[in-house]
Amino acid sequence: MTGTPEGDLDLLFQIWVTLVGLAFGSFLNVCIARMPEDRSVAHPPSHCPACGHKIRWYENIPVVSWVVLRARCSGCGTRISPLYPTIELMMGALSLLLYRHLVETPTLENMGAWALYLLFVFILVGSTFIDIRHYIIPDEFSIFAVPVGFFGVMALDFGGYEGPNAMAWQSSAYGALAGGGVLLLTIGAWWLVRRVEAMGFGDVKLLAMMGAFLGAAPAVPFILVMACFLGSAVGLVMMVRRGGGLSTQVPFGPFLAASGVIYLFFGEAIIRNWLPTWSFVYG
Ligand SMILES: [Zn+2]
Repeated sequence: MTGTPEGDLDLLFQIWVTLVGLAFGSFLNVCIARMPEDRSVAHPPSHCPACGHKIRWYENIPVVSWVVLRARCSGCGTRISPLYPTIELMMGALSLLLYRHLVETPTLENMGAWALYLLFVFILVGSTFIDIRHYIIPDEFSIFAVPVGFFGVMALDFGGYEGPNAMAWQSSAYGALAGGGVLLLTIGAWWLVRRVEAMGFGDVKLLAMMGAFLGAAPAVPFILVMACFLGSAVGLVMMVRRGGGLSTQVPFGPFLAASGVIYLFFGEAIIRNWLPTWSFVYG
């Protein structure tokens, strides 16, 4: 162990939050597979889509089972996508990174912040993979999560949380309005000029949700600028590689989601370093 009781406790917490993240990843795989088809994420229990083989508890251990089963169903041998352990590893890593970013000492309010933003990241990773595959963002992962962000931020505010991304509860409401409003205005303006929808309403609801968890300023403008930058960079690479036109359909949701994660971890550092005139927002 680490030599001091505080160090040992911290190490145990780091292991625990990683395991919780892996378990969240496992559940997120179920959400990604079932939500776009409007199937329940609770019932029936996980089974092989090819042969119906019921997945036993020891075949459902994040990452480990995929390796032990050598990526094949034990009933029929159908290949299990590497996306499953990838999402589990991603959530395990993000949970650990969130703990290290938000929790200086494991007090109740700090662990509350970790839990709230783990849920936030869970929603963002889920909407990313669903949007890439189906070009939709489920309401459960966007507009329905606005009250979760609002009441979560409120609980942290009243609980005295003062770590990274701490804010007054009102900021959450402004964030949801600003996030949804700015994209709604963009769609409206674009429609007036070009008579086409610039983006989907899923993106509007997604940014409203992100505003509820992160506040209005500087989160919403930061995410918009970052998402446009990432989207243009990826769009250009795809145009060059495929030789296609600009019309290649690339969903915008994943860029918004990635920018939200970047803001959560690096937003304050980026703004303090690169936009010092804006760092007054951090007091
Ligand atoms: Zn099978």
